[in-house]
Amino acid sequence: MALNNGQFTNLERIQISFMRLRNVKGSRDRIAEDPFVVQEPEKYQGSWERAFGKKRPLYLEIGMGKGKFISELAVRHPDRNFLGIEKFSSVLVRALDKRKELDVDNLLFLRFDAEEILEIFGKEEVDGIYLNFSDPWPKDRHAKRRLTSGRFLDRYAQILKPEGKVIFKTDNRELFDFSLEEAKKAGWEILCCTYDLHHSDYAEGNIMTEYEERFSKEGKPIAQLVIKRKL
Ligand code: SAM
Repeated sequence: MALNNGQFTNLERIQISFMRLRNVKGSRDRIAEDPFVVQEPEKYQGSWERAFGKKRPLYLEIGMGKGKFISELAVRHPDRNFLGIEKFSSVLVRALDKRKELDVDNLLFLRFDAEEILEIFGKEEVDGIYLNFSDPWPKDRHAKRRLTSGRFLDRYAQILKPEGKVIFKTDNRELFDFSLEEAKKAGWEILCCTYDLHHSDYAEGNIMTEYEERFSKEGKPIAQLVIKRKL
């Protein structure tokens, strides 16, 4: 798209809005038809093995973005079921493109807002939850929207098995410290806490997410927290 002194012309603005609309519409249609996207997830509450066709431990990534991390996990662990959850259609379709190239039967996706997570998972149904580079919601008044807030940890505690874990990575020090405090307050056991994952004992086997690749190229340290739900 041409720029005139840094400004778009009116015609270009209209074309851009149209392209955006078309993209969103196309994404929603594709998601509604894709065999790897679970439609009506409420139907599987308490028995997600029906969606996968095989009973295996169930792992979620909430806010999976374009799906690089969970796709690699699924290939690495064929003995587990993986469900990637993403709020936005326009992002989820990028994961579907990658999914087509994989020969696995243990990876499904969901367009869903994690706010409603208790509507779709049964008590103690989930083995692990990955949260990678979750949105920081920097304003205090939005703290409860953070995916590692006490409000969300309480929800995870209901759907996780007794030994279930939350595995959280971020480059954002404020969000990390907040998450650590919330986990302690809620009585979770801290299994791993590192401010520099890539240079720690936990680096081996780490799968980089899209954001992680970007931030580590910029020289930012990546922090990781692994917590186990209180019994
Ligand atoms: N996890 C990916 C990575 O590390 O490359 C993407 C990180 S991106 C900063 C955060 C993603 O979480 C976005 O794609 C956003 O749409 C998604 N997200 C944020 N809040 C969510 C929610 N409540 N439910 C589901 N997805 C959410």
